[in-house]
Amino acid sequence: MKEKFLAVKNREKAGNAVQHIWAKTTPVKQLAYKPTPNLLVLTILGNNSAIPAFGRNPTAQVLQLEDDYFLIDCGEGTQLQMARYKVRHSRINHIFISHLHGDHYFGLIGLLTSMSLLNRTQDLHLYGPEPLKHIIDFQLNVADTTLCYKLHFYPLTTEGRIVDENKFTVDCFSVKHRIECWGFLFKQKKKPRSIDPVRVKSYEIPAAFYEKLQRGEDYVTKKGTLIPNDEVTTANTPEKSYAYCADTIFDETICEKIQGVDLLYHETTYLKEASDKAAARYHCTTVQAGTIAKNAGVQKLLIGHFSSRYEELDEFLSETTEVFERTELAIEGTCYRV
Ligand SMILES: [Zn+2]
Ligand SMILES: [Zn+2]
Repeated sequence: MKEKFLAVKNREKAGNAVQHIWAKTTPVKQLAYKPTPNLLVLTILGNNSAIPAFGRNPTAQVLQLEDDYFLIDCGEGTQLQMARYKVRHSRINHIFISHLHGDHYFGLIGLLTSMSLLNRTQDLHLYGPEPLKHIIDFQLNVADTTLCYKLHFYPLTTEGRIVDENKFTVDCFSVKHRIECWGFLFKQKKKPRSIDPVRVKSYEIPAAFYEKLQRGEDYVTKKGTLIPNDEVTTANTPEKSYAYCADTIFDETICEKIQGVDLLYHETTYLKEASDKAAARYHCTTVQAGTIAKNAGVQKLLIGHFSSRYEELDEFLSETTEVFERTELAIEGTCYRV
């Protein structure tokens, strides 16, 4: 899978210490931005827990699925990080907030009001725990502010599908944290097979049958000859999936919910020596995140939400890869492409 998962250093001035750690652990391949039909790119904007520390910011990330962009959590400083890494918020139509600890949403009201100040016109869809609506309404009311665009709020109440669009779906699942907390599963929809226009003509297959060909059906001619589907169509590249597990205690029951995803983001707030502290605070260690990735059979694991007691991140990677080899550190300003 290595060639399918390329770390791309963001093209602008991200030359800080954290990038250096990344460069030490994994060879960085520079890629020109080139959209492909099944593109899934995750850009990390914040990888720290609780407070900003050592140049690291609270949690926020942007997921691109083809031409759709999703903001996942919005810690303090997210707007600045978006500007720094050239993520245009006009492209974001969906925002997902996992829980109401400040390091996951204190940047939200600033972003929402900036969108309005910049005359956003398109609707924005916001998903999060139910009290988030009251918090936003209160903040807007006391400021006598009315957003110039339509904000749709969807409270997360039960596990299951929360978005079903033409090209993708999003499901939420509950995770065990100190307060109500949700993970998100993003999946591209299966694409129809591509028809080879020359071959369908040569077999004289009527256009009315094309839709069935795209679904994988074989064609039988009037004389009874069977034309196998793969003779006249080609499969599209497999659809991609991404799971974001938010803040959680070690909980193996989530494995079945994220089984086999192409990319999993799992928190590693602590190194393995702090497993007692991790459990007491409803967080995870490196070894625990690796165990979840292994048992869920994921293709690739990305770890983040690092405690501000650690300045260096090298040990996070070495400890996790002992359990699950295909692991990378979530580094701010880095795009992970699947
Ligand atoms: Zn957190
Ligand atoms: Zn939390």
